[in-house]
Amino acid sequence: MLRGSEMIKCLICRSCSQMHQPPDYNPENPLRIKVLQRSLHLRRVCEEIDVSIVSDHFYMLYRVHDKNYVENMLKRLKTVRKPVYLDEDTYIEPTTIHAVRETLALLAYGVELLSSRRCRHVIALVRPPSHHAGRRRFGGFCIFNHSAAATASLLDSYDFIAVLDFDAHYGDGFAEIFYEDDRVLYISLHEDPRYMFPYRGFPEEAGRGRGLGYTVNIVMPKGATDKHYHRAFDEVLCPLLDAMKPKAIVVLLGLDTHWKDELTDINATLNLYADIGRLVRRYSLSLTVLEGGYSLWVLPRGIANYIAGLKGEEQPYREEEYPAPLEVDRRFERFIDRTKKVIKKYLRIDL
Ligand SMILES: [Zn+2]
Repeated sequence: MLRGSEMIKCLICRSCSQMHQPPDYNPENPLRIKVLQRSLHLRRVCEEIDVSIVSDHFYMLYRVHDKNYVENMLKRLKTVRKPVYLDEDTYIEPTTIHAVRETLALLAYGVELLSSRRCRHVIALVRPPSHHAGRRRFGGFCIFNHSAAATASLLDSYDFIAVLDFDAHYGDGFAEIFYEDDRVLYISLHEDPRYMFPYRGFPEEAGRGRGLGYTVNIVMPKGATDKHYHRAFDEVLCPLLDAMKPKAIVVLLGLDTHWKDELTDINATLNLYADIGRLVRRYSLSLTVLEGGYSLWVLPRGIANYIAGLKGEEQPYREEEYPAPLEVDRRFERFIDRTKKVIKKYLRIDL
């Protein structure tokens, strides 16, 4: 029997608050983790573990990436002398390798806690984000897909996993990696891909081969609010999880859905993160990995609310919600109908 204090473990990647520094202003920078380390709320509940001395876990990457991609990128990370941009968002520099190494070690530890059932819920506060990195490509701040690597490791103990991607952007790399896999049910809620990077993630992109139906895309219109997320939870996400009965949940937690975040046009409040925590609490086992979220005001408050929700405690931060224009409701309606049709067609579940 697990005691209350052992139910949830929140781990912060220490190197991630210092290493992998952008050459110039970039919203994806070490301050994102530093503000989490410094938050009084989080200090009480999170643990910084020193994994810098443990052995390398780069082997985890080979399970989800092409061998040549891993080898070439690791070689680049080990030899890079000054910060360079790989594309307009994604950079690497001489200390990036340390952030990658510690992130993987921390996730390996988290997976081990869950596989041995020493913990029910593990939260990994790491960076850079990872869900845009595909089998043989980087992009959107992401170099390696460590979330996918952790999911692949968790599959050794739990043979059917649901991945809930709450980041405002579609996790195109994550979806690609498991696109033909029926052991991973990938459900993403993301901003309308007609206008938002990575311009993919329409409801009809539902998987291939054995994985057909196992990629579920719930499109949120520009200007969507908490109310639209609640409807997506009640009408699709929760009934789908109830029907599919995953053995473990992986949460890709992006806080760039907040109205203050400048990278997206979703208008969620801090309340949503507590709601997501409460939703995940219903399931017996979860690994949460921090993905996006670039407002240094939102990050510590959003994570504190998420953890409170996951613990079944009162959320420390509350925000007033404003109604969205009627047009946003109409767009949401059209998108969610498309998602329901796809689920009915391939998974034969009538929502
Ligand atoms: Zn994002």
